[in-house]
Amino acid sequence: MLVIGAGAAGSAAAFHLAAAGQRVTLLEKNEHQNIKPCGGGMAAAVQEWFPFDLKPVVDEVIERVEFSWRLSDQVVADLSGSAPFWIVRREKLDAHLASKAVDEGAELIRPFAVKSLLKQEGLWQATADDGRQIEARAVVIANGSHSQLSEVFGLGPKAVHHASTMSVRLDSRGNLEKGSARFEFGLVHHGFAWAFPIAGGVNVGVGTFIGRHAADSDAVLKQLLPSLGFDPQAGIRQEASLRVWNGHHLLHGDGIIAVGDAASLCDPFLAEGLRPALMSGCEAAHSLTRWLNGDTNNLADYSQNMRQRWGESMAWGRRIAQVFYRFPKVGYQLGIKRPTAPQRIAQILSGRMGYGDIAQRVIKRLLLQRS
Ligand SMILES: Cc1cc2nc3c(=O)[nH]c(=O)nc-3n(C[C@H](O)[C@H](O)[C@H](O)COP(=O)(O)OP(=O)(O)OC[C@H]3O[C@@H](n4cnc5c(N)ncnc54)[C@H](O)[C@@H]3O)c2cc1C
Repeated sequence: MLVIGAGAAGSAAAFHLAAAGQRVTLLEKNEHQNIKPCGGGMAAAVQEWFPFDLKPVVDEVIERVEFSWRLSDQVVADLSGSAPFWIVRREKLDAHLASKAVDEGAELIRPFAVKSLLKQEGLWQATADDGRQIEARAVVIANGSHSQLSEVFGLGPKAVHHASTMSVRLDSRGNLEKGSARFEFGLVHHGFAWAFPIAGGVNVGVGTFIGRHAADSDAVLKQLLPSLGFDPQAGIRQEASLRVWNGHHLLHGDGIIAVGDAASLCDPFLAEGLRPALMSGCEAAHSLTRWLNGDTNNLADYSQNMRQRWGESMAWGRRIAQVFYRFPKVGYQLGIKRPTAPQRIAQILSGRMGYGDIAQRVIKRLLLQRS
């Protein structure tokens, strides 16, 4: 069993496969765990998918989320109590999951940058850029937003949709209070900006979710960073494009499955990609284990389960994003500033509610306001 990519999705899949007794090789192109452009915001509810503690990689527990429109008109959602939201240090999360997979018997080979993947006489053969080869009966494609393998094997959408992001890691806290995260809507055309705490610092990001053009992140950061107590030029900047969910598609083939960003699972409204990465890694491992043990003759239950558990909500998330980011001022007034909104947002961020539960009401309100 091969897993290509030791990010969140691949490492989660490798752990569950190895724990189920499968022989797993996890291939990662980077020799060392590099800094990843990721805010690290994640519903604490993902803990229930793992039998080991995720707390060692949690930098902060978020109890308060502040929303603003052009740095004013603030709304605060209280996340304390039953709907906790964590900030994890992304590199630590990936390394933690991969090391748990290794503890269960998986082999981690890094660096191993897969250059090509072929199926020959019933076996998948992965070739690295330096010519090394490795074979297996089944393969998990988990190599992130820049994967070309998922398209080559017809997994996920043919028309891939990307969000454009710019992230900045700052190594002091500015004025962000302990346990608080911020979302800013009015400054970014067709998107939003965020500030999430990490131990000893802050991750700030700018994301554009519809349209072809990335936001003018420098202009946004010039206003946003001083409002957080930083110099407008502070921090190391990393640009990244992120595949987002774009319709229901098959995510499996004959002995092959795509997970995480490689399967275009990231939420097209709020860019939540960690929960679906971990969910798909776990689901993939369960389907593959049944298939490898001969309990089923195909992997269709993986695509079906992901559609049910994630895709149905994302279909509504995409519709909300298309309306909200076109009319963000109205969206902010009617979607975020409603008295019940903080509670709903807390439930969505914590994974207790899907977009389908709120979407019809929100879209109707937005469209009625425009007509
Ligand atoms: C700026 C930014 C902020 C974000 N903030 C959040 C957030 O706060 N919360 C949230 O839930 N989501 C967030 N996301 C989304 C989230 O980071 C992704 O959805 C998540 O990383 C998906 O995990 P993954 O394992 O599928 O992919 P990745 O984390 O990209 O892992 C893929 C792995 O595959 C390896 N790889 C690539 N090519 C090859 C190859 N050819 N051979 C071998 N290995 C290979 C890579 O090195 C990498 O380790 C953010 C994204 C961005 C860009």
